[in-house]
Amino acid sequence: MEIAQPLEELDWIPRPKILALRRLGITTAEDLLTHFPRRHEDRHQFPEFPRDESDVPVCLSGEVIKTSLRRFGGWKKIFEATLQEPNANALSQPLICRWFNLHYVQKMIATGQQLVIFGKPRLRGSRICMDHPEFEVIENDEEKSIHLRRITPIYPGTEGLSQRMLRSIIYRLLQDLDTAPIEPLLPEDLKDGDRAEAIRAIHFPESWESLSAAREHLVLSEFFAMQMLIASRRADSHARVSAAHCGRGDLLEKFLRTLPFEMTTAQKKVIAELEQDLAAKHPMNRLLQGDVGSGKTVVAIAAILLAVEAGYQATFMAPTQILAEQHYTVLRRWLEPLGVKLSIRTAARREESFLPLLAGNEKADVIIGTHALLYEKVSFANLGLVVIDEQHKFGVAQRARLTSREPAPDVLVMTATPIPRTITMTVYGDLDVSILDEMPHGRGKSITAVRDSSKLGEVLSFLRKQLEAGRQLYVVYPLIEESEKLEAKAAATEYDRWRERLHPYLCELLHGRIPGPEKQEIMERFRRGETKVLISTTVIEVGVDVPNATVMLVENAERFGLAQLHQLRGRIGRGEHKSYCILLTSEPSSEAAAKLAVLEKTSDGFEVAEADWELRGPGDLLGTAQSGLPALKIGNLRRDAELMRRARRAAMSIFAADPKLASAQNQRFQQLIVEKQGRTFSNVS
Ligand code: ADP
Ligand code: MG
Repeated sequence: MEIAQPLEELDWIPRPKILALRRLGITTAEDLLTHFPRRHEDRHQFPEFPRDESDVPVCLSGEVIKTSLRRFGGWKKIFEATLQEPNANALSQPLICRWFNLHYVQKMIATGQQLVIFGKPRLRGSRICMDHPEFEVIENDEEKSIHLRRITPIYPGTEGLSQRMLRSIIYRLLQDLDTAPIEPLLPEDLKDGDRAEAIRAIHFPESWESLSAAREHLVLSEFFAMQMLIASRRADSHARVSAAHCGRGDLLEKFLRTLPFEMTTAQKKVIAELEQDLAAKHPMNRLLQGDVGSGKTVVAIAAILLAVEAGYQATFMAPTQILAEQHYTVLRRWLEPLGVKLSIRTAARREESFLPLLAGNEKADVIIGTHALLYEKVSFANLGLVVIDEQHKFGVAQRARLTSREPAPDVLVMTATPIPRTITMTVYGDLDVSILDEMPHGRGKSITAVRDSSKLGEVLSFLRKQLEAGRQLYVVYPLIEESEKLEAKAAATEYDRWRERLHPYLCELLHGRIPGPEKQEIMERFRRGETKVLISTTVIEVGVDVPNATVMLVENAERFGLAQLHQLRGRIGRGEHKSYCILLTSEPSSEAAAKLAVLEKTSDGFEVAEADWELRGPGDLLGTAQSGLPALKIGNLRRDAELMRRARRAAMSIFAADPKLASAQNQRFQQLIVEKQGRTFSNVS
């Protein structure tokens, strides 16, 4: 018997079980051995039955002394099994397991059986209950030693395959494999100990220590394979040849002299990095991370000017039309005096300004547009640089579309969403990274406060003071996009309410359903300061830059994610004045509202990102699902960040030492691990 053996060839596994396993994508011995337990139970000795409720689930064992089925609400049923602990005395209290409307449970449990259960004990009246516990019926056979008196594995559930059955099959498989070699998947300097041992111990560990050592080994292997894949992509991209897209820098010099401010040290450092990449004979593939307001736009402009000076076209893509228009306005103001020709291309404005592009001699140097630019049949005359703003709104697949162009342009992607380090190492692992870790000087202070909606009166008088002082405000409210009709109605109601509250200051309404050109005019009036208050949905979430706006009021703030709120408050604090982000919530005690306190405490986007991740996982925000990386079977990106760092260092140094050898090695790895996993990478919670 060997590790690659198809399970079908093993005659001791019943046919129906083989089919059930196949539904999980498990067809070989190796697949099964890398079907890792979801958790383990210590079944050496069970604790006494609890007397009180607890939020920590416990694992208990007892005998079923009674079962009953009760009906309620007409057709609904509760099945109850009363359990008694093994050494029950006069003081012990039975435990009641309850299942609601689960027919199959009542068929599986009967009086006299021994059960192992896992769940949270709850006090219901005077009874201790456990609702919907996980359970396993203990049978008195020679296999008992596999399931009891040990640290016992619990697997991800499958229909048609009980824990007991799965555990027995894996146990036997491991015994049969005793003599078969299992190839190591880690370089020795990364981890000693062998893979066979780790696989054995992940299923049936001798101790909690050996379990955690085994897990570490397997996680490292998995991460290492992933980092080898990433490193090979990086190496491939570095091996491509492209033209240098870098002028001498005179145009950039001119631009910097016209700027009303001095670049920060961080901005200068990043521009130098970009200059080097642009001048290199392989395509740039770089991520620029900088918190909201750190001044990414001028850095992008610097790169654009270097490319334009060298005679190439550049594009600047933004996720929304509002942002594209803003970039167009800003870039025109700064670049047209330098003789740079600009054009804009968005769905709403395609005809008017794109024509010059088609007429060869009048071609634009810089084309600004929405991400949709990618999907249109835009032929660039001589594309040298692509800048993508707010990359997190932009799919990895879309990025690939760009980077695979021939001849290869240099690509710079920018994001204000601080990305947890581990994600940078994985989803963006094939990119070089630049970080703007310094805010421009002379910014007014920014304060965030969470307030109960009942305090709206006080908030309003504060808002009026700000308006009297000449400042402008944003009011943002959440809208679930149920239907166009509802949304329009909700927006209109909100708008009327706010107009009344802030009379006579001029308010305007902005939301996604307003037609493009009109949206643009609304934004412009706000930018010019004619409109004082912008009542808006999250269409203003990213990028919008109006320095005189100093208050961001968010209604029902608890409905937004932390990262999104951080983006929203990034709209203020962009000028010299002190600014205020007020988060209104009508449920101050709710868990959702508690998270808002994170924003009161820190203004550091990285901290917010980590907290957000902890609360709800990286979500779509990071496009992990489309990253094209393999699914993780055991590693957890958040918990195992340190292991990812080690794996990455190892893979990178292998590629740095000998790219050819590394490539060959990588192919073998991918065959062994990655290709086996059809799913995409999702285990990132
Ligand atoms: P973001 O990084 O969020 O995209 P922007 O590029 O929109 O930030 O910059 C925010 C504001 O800061 C803009 O008004 C911009 O002109 C200004 N700014 C950029 N760099 C500096 C600097 N070095 N000193 C002062 N203001 C700056
Ligand atoms: Mg920006």
